[in-house]
Amino acid sequence: MKVLVTGGAGYIGSHTVVLLIEAGYEVVVFDNFSNASKESIRRVEAIVGKKIVVVEGDIRYREDLAKVFSSHKIDAVIHFAGLKAVGESVEQPLRYYDNNVNGSVVLCEVMSEYNCKSIIFSSSATVYGDPHTTPILEDFPLSATNPYGRSKLMVEEILRDVYLSDNEWKIVLLRYFNPVGAHASGTIGEDPNGLPNNLMPFISQTAVGKREYLSVFGNDYDTVDGTGVRDYIHVIDLAQGHLNALDRIRNFNEPMTINLGTGNGYSVLEMVEAFEKASAKKVPYKIVERRVGDIATCFADPSYAKEVLDWEATRGIDEMCEDTWRWQSQNPNGYII
Ligand code: NAD
Ligand code: UDP
Repeated sequence: MKVLVTGGAGYIGSHTVVLLIEAGYEVVVFDNFSNASKESIRRVEAIVGKKIVVVEGDIRYREDLAKVFSSHKIDAVIHFAGLKAVGESVEQPLRYYDNNVNGSVVLCEVMSEYNCKSIIFSSSATVYGDPHTTPILEDFPLSATNPYGRSKLMVEEILRDVYLSDNEWKIVLLRYFNPVGAHASGTIGEDPNGLPNNLMPFISQTAVGKREYLSVFGNDYDTVDGTGVRDYIHVIDLAQGHLNALDRIRNFNEPMTINLGTGNGYSVLEMVEAFEKASAKKVPYKIVERRVGDIATCFADPSYAKEVLDWEATRGIDEMCEDTWRWQSQNPNGYII
């Protein structure tokens, strides 16, 4: 089975490509390298001991995609390609809608032309907005508070409409909670451009000495210690969720919407403590104002994933922090070598 992985050079994509190749899938990576380095592909090749087929192109450009589909018989697409920075999406909404929404539309059009109708889409827990309660189930009300989140909601809706128009489509919408961690080799991991947006890269860059301290966004939430609580999930567990979905996609008779989380919530300070333990480094922090748009608590009810994908996360926060630290300490400047 040949799988096209859009955004396959990125953080989650590169880890998923490792697992796909190890499981015997044929893989074509498609990426415009707007937020990835070619070094990540070389590292993946070193892990799997194989050359990877990479096509440099943009999902918004029909010709780029047509080139791939005309030269490879693609059976399914795992669609990671997208822009993901919430703050940036507020400043540049049109760029986000063009890249994430228009890009996904063009991808589906070209897939349809080449009669490839199986897609796994990277959605996000952000589509739940500020949930009325936790843990979060898939049928909770949906909302978005920024263009990034809205782009995910829109693509979910578009894919459901695509199915309604043509029931041959097989669609899996995976709503990720907070991906962290890295491959156990320490050779691939998350390499954010410039200032990280997410907690874990910020913690690890502080531990390695690249940043003076972590700003903790508020300690007056209604949580265990006042800091925000999230469901951190190891990127390898997350990647495995895609393989389980791919294995089963043919049997799904309607679009499937599935949370990928652990079901456990940890506060910012609990993550700091776990990271200090894993790295044997201090992570200095300062409590600052709440970040606009943040919610107090967000964690999944992952039981549907267990039921329909036979999937559950197996790696806990110690392993998440140890693997992040191995990647960060071996590659203090990420993929820049
Ligand atoms: P990433 O930025 O590391 O990977 C995305 C990849 O897509 C990059 O390699 C980038 O170069 C590529 N890309 C972007 N626009 C493209 C385009 N128009 N054409 C071709 N390639 C393009 O991000 P990630 O963390 O690996 O996230 C993967 C997907 O998962 C994204 O869609 C993201 O929105 C979603 N997601 C991520 C998180 C998270 O916290 N990391 C959480 C929920 C959902
Ligand atoms: N956070 C923080 N400092 C940072 C980055 C994040 O205190 O520099 C907090 C944030 O307020 C939230 C948690 O860490 O409670 C996770 O934030 P992240 O941006 O990683 O994920 P999201 O909020 O999108 O779930």
